[in-house]
Amino acid sequence: MLDLAIIGGGPAGLSAGLYATRGGLKEVVMFEKGMPGGQITSSSEIENYPGVATVMDGISFMTPWSEQCMRFGLKHEMITVTKVSKNEDKTFTISLEDGSSKQAKAVIVCTGSRPKRAGFKGENEFFGKGVSTCATCDGFFYKNKEVAVLGGGDSALEEALYLANICSKIYLIHRRDSFRAAPSTVEKVKQNEKIELVTNAVVDEVYGDASGVLGVKVKLQDNSIRDLAVPGIFTFVGLDVQNEILKQDDGSFLCELSETGQVVVDLKMRTNVEGLFVAGDLRIDAPKQVISAAADGAVAALSTISYIESLH
Ligand code: FAD
Ligand code: NAP
Repeated sequence: MLDLAIIGGGPAGLSAGLYATRGGLKEVVMFEKGMPGGQITSSSEIENYPGVATVMDGISFMTPWSEQCMRFGLKHEMITVTKVSKNEDKTFTISLEDGSSKQAKAVIVCTGSRPKRAGFKGENEFFGKGVSTCATCDGFFYKNKEVAVLGGGDSALEEALYLANICSKIYLIHRRDSFRAAPSTVEKVKQNEKIELVTNAVVDEVYGDASGVLGVKVKLQDNSIRDLAVPGIFTFVGLDVQNEILKQDDGSFLCELSETGQVVVDLKMRTNVEGLFVAGDLRIDAPKQVISAAADGAVAALSTISYIESLH
């Protein structure tokens, strides 16, 4: 029987792991389907984590986080969790993709969010063959080539700036003419000579052949179509929370969710199910920042320690 199962190894899960193990819990396992680090590892740079003045890419930034947790005894099982359910004896069952399961006294779910699909024609067909959601991973394939970036938030603008260092030109396509990204980032984009803003515009179609994407057709405000002959498009159109593991066999969710699928928690990261905590991007009103996810993880771990003590 585990003291604590942490599901997800992004900033929230790793901070929860650090605080839980350092706080004295003995059997703590973090179930993370990939390498620990979370979605920030797909970011080309992070510059807003207090105390870390050096701007670095997401992988370099997150590497010490797991090393630090493992030193205090956190175990990482690299596997996908398929379901979390509660048993009559107050324990939880963590179902795993290989058909096995683990029992735990408490659970912190930190499964975060994943990039949304934009919904244009050709997006699914060419995903991984010219359509990408990760500039750090795929930007290098477009060295000295022209590419398109879709979106008007922090991710789209920051990644457009990153790609401008590699590619010859960036077409930044956005459906409005104002951006929701931080004003300082918007200013940097506007100053960048390699970035052309294509605003009040939507992607009509991405086309190509067996070799991959050959171009992007963009519908402009006057309904005319502009054909951009680019071999790649990076889409950053927001995030979907990953709450699927909370779904029970009868279709209901284990705990209370908001209308948009985020988990309702209190200030101690407690859900409405005793012993079940949620931290990071998955929780209601999450600011979707590394610092807030990390703080949530620490709070959830401290709440878990109190909960487990209350069981004795
Ligand atoms: P995540 O980081 O999403 O981690 C969730 C983890 O859970 C993942 O590793 C996933 O593999 C794992 N997981 C999910 N489901 C399962 C399952 N069923 N079984 C096992 N494992 C599972 N924030 C900033 O503060 N500054 C920035 O500069 C910044 N830049 C960003 C740039 C980009 C491109 C993106 C996408 C985000 C950026 N963010 C930034 C936001 C920040 O990355 C997130 O707010 C933060 O990572 C959320 O942390 P989390 O731990 O809640 O979830
Ligand atoms: P986001 O803030 O939700 O922005 C998504 C963008 O995509 C918006 O501009 C939106 O347009 C556009 N969009 C949505 N659906 C679309 C569609 N179907 N077709 C075309 N365009 C579409 O997403 P994000 O930029 O990924 O950021 C997610 C969260 O992470 C945010 O809270 C953000 O602040 C945070 N983040 C922070 C940093 C940082 O702190 N440096 C960096 C990256 C991300 P509209 O504007 O018209 O709605």
